Order: sequence, then structure tokens, then C-alpha cells
Amino acid sequence: EVCGFSKQDTVSTAGLLKNRKEHFGKNLSISYADPIPMDRAAFQYMYDTKGNTFLDAYNNIMLVGHCHPRVVEAGRRAMAKLNTNTRYLYEALEEYSSALLARFPQKLNKIYFVNSGSEASDLAIRMAKYHTRKKKVAVLDSGYHGHTQTGMQISAYKYQNPGSEGKPEETLELSLPKVFGSPWKDDGTAGQNYSREAIEKIQQTKGEIAAFIAEPIVGCGGQVPLAKGYLNAVYPEIRAQGGVVISDEVQVGFGRLGEVFWGYELYGVVPDMVILGKPMGNGHPIGAVVTTDEIAESFGHGPEFFSSFGGNPVSCRIGLAVLEVIAEENRQEHAKNTGEYLKSGLNDLRNKYPVIADVRGHGLFLGVELTNQDGQPLTKLASVLKNELRNQFVLVSTDGPFDNVLKIKPPLNFNRENSDELIFKMDMILGQNIVLF
Ligand code: PMP
Repeated sequence: EVCGFSKQDTVSTAGLLKNRKEHFGKNLSISYADPIPMDRAAFQYMYDTKGNTFLDAYNNIMLVGHCHPRVVEAGRRAMAKLNTNTRYLYEALEEYSSALLARFPQKLNKIYFVNSGSEASDLAIRMAKYHTRKKKVAVLDSGYHGHTQTGMQISAYKYQNPGSEGKPEETLELSLPKVFGSPWKDDGTAGQNYSREAIEKIQQTKGEIAAFIAEPIVGCGGQVPLAKGYLNAVYPEIRAQGGVVISDEVQVGFGRLGEVFWGYELYGVVPDMVILGKPMGNGHPIGAVVTTDEIAESFGHGPEFFSSFGGNPVSCRIGLAVLEVIAEENRQEHAKNTGEYLKSGLNDLRNKYPVIADVRGHGLFLGVELTNQDGQPLTKLASVLKNELRNQFVLVSTDGPFDNVLKIKPPLNFNRENSDELIFKMDMILGQNIVLF
């Protein structure tokens, strides 16, 4: 079974697609014009049922690599020994919470384990409301924080969609403080202008905001780093009117950004709450809210907090193994070095093809925005590039309000040779298709 191909080989892609149609709603989306029947994966590579090898430049969840043997073994052993819940005492919970909290500044010293990023954002908002006794939540345009009822209400990326109910009254939407596509530079002027506008909107609510939630680099918005100085101005304003600030580290956390372990560190700020998910369990479903004594104290006066699976010993052992592998394999430093190398290759491509209007991001969390000379989004070209890369066995995604930003966020095993391959194939595809745009 390990060396050969599984039984799935005999199942046709058409058969799998037919099954999907029969069993699922049509808003269960699928990647690529030519969907891939996946069979297995290892580190930065994925293998389909036909025996093709794909380079994964896309999956930020598999932080230390698909099916990393240390992580798999940790899960396997834990599952064979004990799986229970946080109403019992067990060492795995103590060891993991200590190891994870050691990664945060001292004031962030309480943790709540859940099972996904969505659950983490939902819980964080509930805690913030409980703590502040306020109701409104300030969010960024194009942000995404989860698929629960609350998650959808605080995710402009979703409530702005046709077919959605629109922005709820309790949500205060602030402009996305982006630099590319704005009239300002990242020398502080963009941050000043966006934060001035945000502060005006915050002040108009007259102290009703429980929480401000934002990603340090807005993934679904198209890999948009926040303008310099923005959080430094907005965090104090939210706190001054009695609210708390939340950093959504679900996509960017755990060293992916290279120079920092957590995204908020890019801006020299410390939030009151952090939400974690995706890479935390390297594919095993875990999430968490990390917060302060004060917020935990207020929340502690509420009903019991309990999640059947959150913080179970299997999840804790897996999470601990992920932290150990990041440290032992120097994955953060590797993300920094490889990210710089890849970014420089992407910038060379940008010099060659003016349709690459912007290359941005940190470490191995990068975005490539495609526009024409007038700054209009090249959505079709982004789709061609994504699908042709897939046909050339390299996986990336697209996102942003116009779906014209290539997202590159691979497992952190992704190396220089892989970067060369991605650049080479992008070059080839752009060269072949550029006449069309
Ligand atoms: N926050 C961010 C920034 C995310 O990207 C996501 C998932 N795309 C979530 C929260 C929700 O995480 P999950 O899908 O694991 O519930």
C-alpha cells in the first residue's frame, strides 16, 4: 500500500465528481478547471491517483510538510494510548500549553483550545463581548475569519458576496489599509491616512466596539500586508474606547513569515487576543484563543467553557510535535531565506512582465498581483496562470476582491530548487499567454 498505488486509482475523476454533485451542495468549491484526484502527499509534494507529482506552493496548513513523519508518529502513539477531554488531568495538555504560551509575550498567558480557526474566532469574539459588555466588532474590508454564524458576520470577504445578507449592523467595516493600489506609500503616509479614517469611524460609534479583529497580512484580501503604522494607531484607539484587539494568526502564524513567529510582531504591537488554527496541527484540526489574565478572568464568570475535542491529548501531542519540528528543522529561518530568494525571483519576473504589478508579503506568504497598465485587475490572466501551473504540476491559488492575486504559501520544506521551478514555469506560461492580455 505504501509503495504502490491505492485502490482509488481505479476510481475515475468523473466518478468522483459525479459523487460530489450527488452528495454535496454546489457551493462546495473545487480547485482548478481540471480537478485533481489526490492520493497521497509528502512534505512539499502531492501525488494524484494517476501517479503525477505536484509541487505544492499553496497549502499553508501543512506547515512542516505533508505527512511529516514526526507529526504522524506523535498522533499515532497518542491515539493508541489515551484520548479524552480537558475534564481530566494529563501531561500532554500541560506540556503543549506551556510550549505554545512560551512563544508569546508574558501578557498573553491564557489559552483555550478548540478545533478550528472558525471556532477560535467565534470564541474570541464571544470572550471580547463578555469582557467589554459591548456589542460591535470592527473588521477590515476583505477580511475572513471563519464560517460560523459569528465568523460570517465579521468576514467582509463573505458578507459582501452576492447571495449574502450583507454587512450586519453590529459590524463596523474599516477600509483595508493596503499600500499597493492606494495613492500612498509605505513610508508611513498610507498608515496615517488609513488610520485617520479608521479612527473617525471608531469615534462615531461612541464607545460601542467590543473588539477589532484583523489579520497581519490579509490573506483572502489578496495577501495584503497592513500599511506601516496602521495597527500602532488603531489598537490604542480601540482600547481607549473600551474594546480589545484580536490578531488573526490562522494563516500567517507559526514562523511562516520568516522574520517573525507571529504576524503582529511585524508591526511592533501586542494584541489582547490571538486566534490560531490551520498550521497549528499540520493538518490535524486544532485551533486556539490565546489571551490575557484579565479577559480570561471576566470570561471565567460565564458558563463553563468546554469543547469535547479541544485540547484532547492526541491533538496536544500533534501540536507539540509541530512546534518541535519547527524548532529542530529551523523552519522559520528557512522560510525567511527561501522567501527572500523566491521574492527576488518574482521581482525579476515583474521586471520582465509589467502585468505583474506587485509582489508582496513576507517569508513564505507571498502575493503576486496582476493588473494592466491602467491598474485594472487581470482576473482572467490570473486564472490562466493558476490553471496552467496546475497543468505543469505546480499548485498555487488566486484570491483578492478581483481574484487577480496569486497566492504562494507552501509547506515550509519548499526550497530554492522549488522556487526556481515555480519561477521557470510562471515565466514560460506568462511568455506564452501575454499576447492575449
Ligand atoms: N481566519 C483566517 C484568516 C482564515 O484564513 C481561516 C480559514 N481560511 C479561518 C480563520 C477559519 O479557519 P477554519 O477554516 O479552519 O475554520
